[in-house]
Formats: sequence, structure tokens, C-alpha cells
Amino acid sequence: MAMNTITRLENYSLKEHTTLKIGGNAEEVYVPNKAEEVCEIKGKITIVGKGSNLLVSSQGVKGKVILTGNLVSHEFLDKTRLKVESGLKSCSVAKLALEKSLTGLEFLIGIPGSIGGAITMNSSAHGQAIEHVIESAEVMDLHTYEVRTMSKADLKLSYRNSFIEKNRHFILSAIFNLKKGDHQAISDKMEWHLDYRKKCHPPLTEPNAGSTFRNPEQGVFVGQLLEQLGAKGWKEGGAVISDKHCNFMINKGNATSLDISRLMYKMHSSVKKEYGYDLIAEIRYVGEPTPEEEEIWSQFIVH
Ligand SMILES: Cc1cc2nc3c(=O)[nH]c(=O)nc-3n(C[C@H](O)[C@H](O)[C@H](O)COP(=O)(O)OP(=O)(O)OC[C@H]3O[C@@H](n4cnc5c(N)ncnc54)[C@H](O)[C@@H]3O)c2cc1C
Repeated sequence: MAMNTITRLENYSLKEHTTLKIGGNAEEVYVPNKAEEVCEIKGKITIVGKGSNLLVSSQGVKGKVILTGNLVSHEFLDKTRLKVESGLKSCSVAKLALEKSLTGLEFLIGIPGSIGGAITMNSSAHGQAIEHVIESAEVMDLHTYEVRTMSKADLKLSYRNSFIEKNRHFILSAIFNLKKGDHQAISDKMEWHLDYRKKCHPPLTEPNAGSTFRNPEQGVFVGQLLEQLGAKGWKEGGAVISDKHCNFMINKGNATSLDISRLMYKMHSSVKKEYGYDLIAEIRYVGEPTPEEEEIWSQFIVH
């Protein structure tokens, strides 16, 4: 019989599992080491990859949390097709493609998440996106626990949106179909991405979760709208807007999920009042909201 290697933790703080460094305790945390072990976890499940797109409630998370960080195997199926497990870091996937001179995933080099998170969010940057290169994903339906392969079309990937999140599926692994390219050109493109981020985004030593809100339409950037409103340095408790990019919020050290939510409310209502855009959150809230957080978040999520 196969040995069960899953780790189970109780009342475990999720703070260090998010790039914002915010979050209370999860009732139960599971860290599977093999895809088959995911199928053994039944009940109300919250999935956390690298937590780079998450605001975890300071009040904690009820039910079961799965941390995907140990699901990291990979395999080249042929010269251009790469299969990866969902917990592998996106930058590691980019490097695997570079090693074989495969182009299409250069943008992942600077995105601090897991590949499972990148697929769920249909991550993108500067014209490249997951939807351009994914072939299929092996998923588990968290209602029926059925495991199946979904094609790119089934995944319904669009701007920070997918079938996966809306329909509570767990991505176990995915296959990318890439193109042969020039090693130096791929490497240069990755350097360009990293340089751009260094110049334009706050570093992760200033805890943040990337873009707070989605851009409301092509060519309209939330960061610029907020900058025009003088948002640099706006703060709520320990949460402050970055002076490098106004769509990024920084945890100055002791911010709570309520501080972040209040700052988001200020950003959202100011943009709505001045420009009429009803912004949609890019960051995802997980866990138990306070009544105030619930009220705030109801205004900027898609129902
Ligand atoms: C500094 C910085 C820069 C960023 N730049 C970009 C950028 O340029 N482009 C971009 O698109 N994003 C960007 N992001 C946002 C974020 O890094 C990406 O969305 C990333 O792909 C999320 O991956 P994650 O593993 O951290 O997901 P998490 O934050 O852990 O989770 C995000 C969502 O995905 C779900 N999820 C995670 N893994 C799985 C899985 N295996 N199966 C099913 N659901 C899963 C979670 O439940 C949650 O709903 C940036 C973030 C930061 C902090």
C-alpha cells in the first residue's frame, strides 16, 4: 500500500504564506506531497498557492486549507510540451522553458506565484498570458472529487478569471505547449521583465499582493487614475499605497485585513466618484470577514 505523506496542521497561521504578510489562523491545513493525496481531503476547502494574490482574513479561515507548495514535479512530454504540477513556482516554470529554449512563458519570470495560481487567475503581463500557451489541466472537482482533464477551451480563461475559481476546482497539473525560440532572445526578454518590475513595482520586501484592482478597460490603468487623484501615500492603519505604483498596497508591518479592506474602499470609491468606473478587485479575500469587511468587499467583487 502507498505511504501517506500528507502533513496536517491545526490552528496554523497563514501570514507567512502570503506576500502581504497578513492572515490569521486556519483551522486545519493540509500540505499534500503527491497529487493523489489531494483527493483524500474532503469538506470546505480553501486553496493557497504562494498567496501572492490573496488577502487572508486576520480573523482566520474556517474549514480546510490546502497549501500546494509541495506539488512541484515537472516533465517534458516532448520537445515543446511541458507538464508541471500546480505548486511549482511560476518563475521556476519560466526557467524550465528557458533551459530548453522554449518561448511563451517569459512573463512568468517576475510573477511571484505558483503555476496553479497563475492558471486560476489567467496571469499575464506585457502581451503574454497563460491562455496563449496552456494546452490542458488535470483538475479535481471539489464538489464531486472527480479528477478529469480540461482543455484550454473548458478552462474559460479571461482577464483574471477562469472556470476553475468560479466552479471550485483544484488544479493538480497542467500542460503547456510552447514554441522553439532563440535562447538568448528568451533570456533577454526575461531580463527585460525583471528590470521593468524593479523600476515600476515595489519589491516584495515591502509586503504587497500586486495589483489591487483590475484595469477597467483596455488602455485605462488603475494606477494612473489613482495617481492623478493624489493617492500616493494614502493609508489606513498599517496599510499604505505604494509611492512606486498606486494600484499596489503595502503592509507597513502591522496591517490587518480590515486596514487593507478600508484602503481598498477608499481607492474604489474615489475612482468611482471621479471617473465613474466601478472597479473589480484583482486580489482575492479568503477567510472569515468582519461585518465591515463583508460590506466593503460586496462592492468590488463579481457576484
Ligand atoms: C509584486 C507582485 C507582482 C505581480 N504581478 C503580476 C502580473 O504581472 N500579472 C499577474 O497576472 N499577476 C501578478 N501578480 C499577482 C499574482 O502573483 C498572480 O495572480 C499569481 O499567479 C497568483 O499565484 P499564487 O500561487 O500566489 O496564487 P494565490 O494567491 O495563492 O491564489 C490565487 C487564487 O488562485 C487559487 N489557486 C491557487 N492555486 C490553485 C490550484 N492549484 N488550483 C485551484 N486554484 C488555485 C486560490 O484559491 C486563489 O483563488 C503579482 C503579485 C505580486 C505580489
